[in-house]
Amino acid sequence: MSLYIKQIEQLIILQRVDDEILQLQDVIEQAPRKISGIEEKIQIQSNQKEELTERIELLNQQKKKLYQEIEEDNSKIKKSKNKLMMVENSREYHAMMREMDNLEKTNRLREDEKVALEEDLESKSNLLLVLENEVQRMQEEHAELKKDMETKTREAKQRLEQLSQERKNASQAIPAPILSRYEFIRHRLSNPIIAPVEESICTGCHISIPPQTFIELQKGIQIMSCPNCQRLIFWKNHFEPEEETVA
Ligand SMILES: [Zn+2]
Repeated sequence: MSLYIKQIEQLIILQRVDDEILQLQDVIEQAPRKISGIEEKIQIQSNQKEELTERIELLNQQKKKLYQEIEEDNSKIKKSKNKLMMVENSREYHAMMREMDNLEKTNRLREDEKVALEEDLESKSNLLLVLENEVQRMQEEHAELKKDMETKTREAKQRLEQLSQERKNASQAIPAPILSRYEFIRHRLSNPIIAPVEESICTGCHISIPPQTFIELQKGIQIMSCPNCQRLIFWKNHFEPEEETVA
C-alpha cells in the first residue's frame, strides 16, 4: 500500500473518530440538561401540589366553622321553640318568632354555602390526586432517566478514552500540514471533511473538479483539496473496488 493511500485511510479514520467523539460529547453534555429539565417540572408540580394542599386545608377549616355555626344556631332555634311554649304575652311571642325566623334564614344561607364549599373541596381533592399521581410518575421517570444517563455517560467516557488513543494513532500517520488543514476544515465546514471524488464530482460540494486536478488526483501522489469547497479529496476508485484497481 502506498504512503499516499495509507494517509488518506488515516484521514478517513480520523474523521470517523472525530464524528464519534462529537456524538459522545453531546451525550455527556445533554445528560445533566435532560435530568434538570425533568427536575424543574417536578418542582413546579410539587409547588402546585403544596399550594393546593394549603387551600384544601383552609377550605376544611372554613367547613368546620360553618358546621359549628349551623349547629349552634340550630340548638338556639330548638331552645327558642321550647321557650315559645312558655311565653305569655304576644309581643314577646312575636319577637321570639322573628328571631327564630332570622336564625333559620341565616342557616339556610349557610347550608347553601356548605354545598358550594363541599363541591369546591371535592373538585380540589380530585385535582390534588391527579397532581400527586403526576408527581409520582415523574419521580419514577426521573430515577429511571438518571440511571440511564449515568450508564450512558460512563460508557461514553470509556469509549472516549479509546477514541483518544485511536485519534492519536491516526494523527501520527498524517503529515502535520495536512492535519492542520483537516482541523481547519472541520471547524468551518459540515461533514465530510475528506470527500471521495466520484467520476470527477466532489461528493462534498457536488461540483465537478477541473480535468487537470482530476488527473493529478488519480495519480495518487499528493493529498489534494477540492478547488471549490476546499475539502480534502481522494479518488474513490483508489479504494473501491480495490481488487479491480490492484488487478
Ligand atoms: Zn468540493
